[in-house]
Amino acid sequence: MNLDDYRGILVFAEQREGEIQNVGLELLGKAKELASEINEEVTAILLGYQVEHLSKELISYGADKVVVVDKEELKFYDTEAYAQAFSSVIKDKKSEIVLVGATTIGRDLGPRVSARVVTGLTADCTKLEISEERELLMTRPAFGGNLMATIICPDHRPQMSTVRPGVMQKFSKDEARTGEVEKFDVEFDKSKMKVKIIEIIKEEKEKIDITEANVLISGGRGVGSADNFKKLEGLAEEIGGTVSASRAIIDSGWIDHDRQVGQTGKTVRPDIYFALGISGAIQHVAGMEESEYIIAINKDKGAPIFNISDLGIVGDVSKIVPMITEEIKLL
Ligand code: FAD
Repeated sequence: MNLDDYRGILVFAEQREGEIQNVGLELLGKAKELASEINEEVTAILLGYQVEHLSKELISYGADKVVVVDKEELKFYDTEAYAQAFSSVIKDKKSEIVLVGATTIGRDLGPRVSARVVTGLTADCTKLEISEERELLMTRPAFGGNLMATIICPDHRPQMSTVRPGVMQKFSKDEARTGEVEKFDVEFDKSKMKVKIIEIIKEEKEKIDITEANVLISGGRGVGSADNFKKLEGLAEEIGGTVSASRAIIDSGWIDHDRQVGQTGKTVRPDIYFALGISGAIQHVAGMEESEYIIAINKDKGAPIFNISDLGIVGDVSKIVPMITEEIKLL
C-alpha cells in the first residue's frame, strides 16, 4: 500500500429521515481544521434516498465536496447496504482520513467499513490532531477513563475514527459557500443483503436528545430521592432547560438511560450545565467538561466538580434549587 496515494478527508454525514445529524456537522468543522493543516479538501459522504438536497447544508457547514449515493436500498439504515455503499466510495476516493460520528449507526457502520477497506479504526475519539509526520493522532479515553490513549494507524489508509457527538465544534454556517456535488452509483451485492426493513415503528415516548439542549439541569445522587429528582423539571421548565443525570441516577431508575451524561452516556456541550449534587467523577466529567458555563451545587466544598465549574455554590441542593426556581419565576 502506497500511503501517498490516499488524499483528503471524508466525513460521514449521517442523516435520519432527511435530517442531517449534528455530529456530522461537528465533524465537518473538525475536518476543516485538520484539512487546513495538510492542505487537503473535505468531502462529505451522504447516503440515503431522495437526500441530494441536503448537500447544500453540508457545503454551508464546510464541505468542499459532497459525494451522494442516492438509492432506494438506503432509504432506511441497513448495515449491509450502508457498509457496501460507504466502502465503495472510500475505495474509489482513496481517502486519507475518514471520520464517522459515534452514534448508534456510526458505531455499527464504522468498524464494518474499516474491515472492508482493510484498515484500523479508533472508536469513540474525543480529540483529533495531525502530527508533524502528517499522521492522524486519535485520542480516546481508556481504562475506564483513567487515562487518555493516543492511537495512530501507521501502515494503512484511510485512518478511520468514530468521534463522540458533542465534542467537536461546527464550522460557522455560510449559505453562500459553494462546492461540488457528485452523484456516486453503487451496484449492490443483493445476495449479501439478508435483511429487509418493512416498517419502522417509532417508540411512543417523547424523545429527548440531551446533546441538542442549550441548557442542561443535571442531577446526581446528592439530589436525594426520586421525588426530589422530579422537582428538577420545575427548574428546567422555568429556564427552558432539559433534565439529564449522572449514572448514579440512571442506575437508580429515576430517569431514562438516554439522559445519562458521561463516558458511558452522552457527551454534551450546552451553553449552561447545572451539576446538582454531582461529585464530578472522571467518568461524568468526560461527558460534560466542554460545556460553555458550568454551575455546580454541592454540599461538599471539596467535591471535584468545583475544579471545573465556572460558578460553584456550596450548599444543600434540596434547599437551593427551589429558591433559584422561585427567584426565576419572579423575573
Ligand atoms: P456521587 O459520586 O455519590 O456524588 C454525590 C454528590 O452529591 C457528592 O459530591 C455529595 O457531596 C453531594 N451531595 C450529597 N447530598 C447533597 C445535598 N443535599 N446537596 C448538595 N450536594 C449533595 N458516571 C456518570 O455520571 N456517567 C457515566 O457515563 C459513567 N460511566 C462510568 C463508566 C465506568 C467504566 C465506571 C467505572 C463508572 C462510570 N460512572 C459514570 C460512575 C462514576 O464513577 C460515578 O460513580 C458517578 O458519576 C457518581 O454519580 P454522582 O456524582 O451522582 O454520585
